[in-house]
Amino acid sequence: MSESAVPYTTNNAGVPVESDSDSLTAGPVGPILLHDHYLIEKMAQFNRERVPERVVHAKGGGAYGVFQVTNDVSQYTRADLFQPGKKTEMLARFSTVAGELGTPDSWRDPRGFALKFYTEEGNYDLVGNNTPIFFVRDPIKFQDFIRSQKRRPDTHLRDNDMQWDFWTLSPESAHMVTWLMGDRGIPKTWRHMNGYGSHTFLWANAGGEKFWVKYHFKTDQGIDFLTQADADALAGQDPDAHLRDLYDSIERGEHPSWTLYVQVMPFDEAWGYRFNPFDLTKVWPHSDYPLIEVGRMTLNRNPDNYHVHIEQAAFEPSNLVPGIGVSPDKMLLGRIFSYPDTHRYRIGPNYAQLPPNRAHVPVHSYAKDGPMRFDASRATTPYAPNSYGGPAADTARFGDPLGWDVAGQMVREGYPLHREDDDWGQAGTMVRQVLDDAARDRLVSNVTGHLKNGVSAPILERAFQYWRNVDKGIGDRIAAAVKK
Ligand code: NDP
Repeated sequence: MSESAVPYTTNNAGVPVESDSDSLTAGPVGPILLHDHYLIEKMAQFNRERVPERVVHAKGGGAYGVFQVTNDVSQYTRADLFQPGKKTEMLARFSTVAGELGTPDSWRDPRGFALKFYTEEGNYDLVGNNTPIFFVRDPIKFQDFIRSQKRRPDTHLRDNDMQWDFWTLSPESAHMVTWLMGDRGIPKTWRHMNGYGSHTFLWANAGGEKFWVKYHFKTDQGIDFLTQADADALAGQDPDAHLRDLYDSIERGEHPSWTLYVQVMPFDEAWGYRFNPFDLTKVWPHSDYPLIEVGRMTLNRNPDNYHVHIEQAAFEPSNLVPGIGVSPDKMLLGRIFSYPDTHRYRIGPNYAQLPPNRAHVPVHSYAKDGPMRFDASRATTPYAPNSYGGPAADTARFGDPLGWDVAGQMVREGYPLHREDDDWGQAGTMVRQVLDDAARDRLVSNVTGHLKNGVSAPILERAFQYWRNVDKGIGDRIAAAVKK
């Protein structure tokens, strides 16, 4: 850039500033003057550069892209973004769960797989993980689970004893812990992992017929993982390896893609299915509900400013569009509240106006004012109904409320058990039928390494039993390896 093309520095009000390097003082050795407004503005702005980091999923990265429908699933949903041939702009953010903003990308942890589709019927967010399941099935346990993964209040250190204490007292975690301790617990890069909607959702077609669905985004780059040893080394060499990999691959023009499949369960089959289909700790076996292709998402554009587009990105499972609804999955129902709530705290009540969160269609909401409101295009008559042409709800556009019959006393109890429901079965299936010998050896080695690192005796004994419940052989091997 030639010297003349360099723009002159201004303050935030656009006024030219006198100096980039010298504060205003009373003589060369005199005190700094309080009315050096530009200096004060710089210091004050700097002190406010950070927004609170996310309580979970703090460390992440993301990119913009496009979702293209490649099959006809209109018989299952009338959602605009899934209609034949449709192309929808989108944003994806990948993350680790437990670590803070600076922690290594290669720590063993589930990965967030959060997607925002800018559809013609408003934003649709699918806020999943790289796992089809989760550690708990009731949102009242989520905060406890996360605290067991985070830092101790006394030492401010993470603590495997807390993690195994919680897991072994929460047997519903077994399937997910098996998943986490296996190869897919440390993906090679974000490009080399699958994504899942994880929860069960409800779809309805144009005729009002309803179906339960599970989303599977299969990586087109192929699944790949890091061994514990490779991941440990990478954590030291390049803590931002996954962030770098995604950014660099898009810059090189290698646009990563994932093919979306859904499993579809006819509405009435849910109640008699052999597993509770709404239990987030369980999958629907593919042999019962095969994958049906829907389309492909391709990430093709890096954000030009990380803070604006990724740190301020606000994904919320409550962003549902006509043709897609929630299910009786209690974790999903809990998240419908907690995500928008955390955004209001973290980036302010008007977060939906920010570039990554803004709908690509006109917004006619009656929301008004509040801190940082800059979008003045909202309704001028601030109440509904009104006589001055303000927005009016169009019930037909929304369609029938997507739901299911509910009746009964208020209770605090688990889901009704289905024929094959238990906490260990699907984890055992994974160990025995999905993993091969080498993957089972790595599972034993990963669990052993984790248990040998600060887990106290009574909890260790519980952990051995936990693994024996998953699979007797694996439990015995882990116990022997830890005791050796
Ligand atoms: P399938 O044999 O049809 O599917 C097994 C699945 O396991 C595949 O989707 C495969 O993904 C995935 N997988 C392979 N290796 C691993 C690993 N190390 N960690 C996690 N997932 C892996 O069997 P079922 O559908 O009957 O499921 C059997 C078990 O497989 C389940 O209990 C569950 O633990 C696991 N699983 C099932 C999924 C489902 O939605 N049904 C999804 C993911 C896991 P890929 O094809 O991409 O290699």
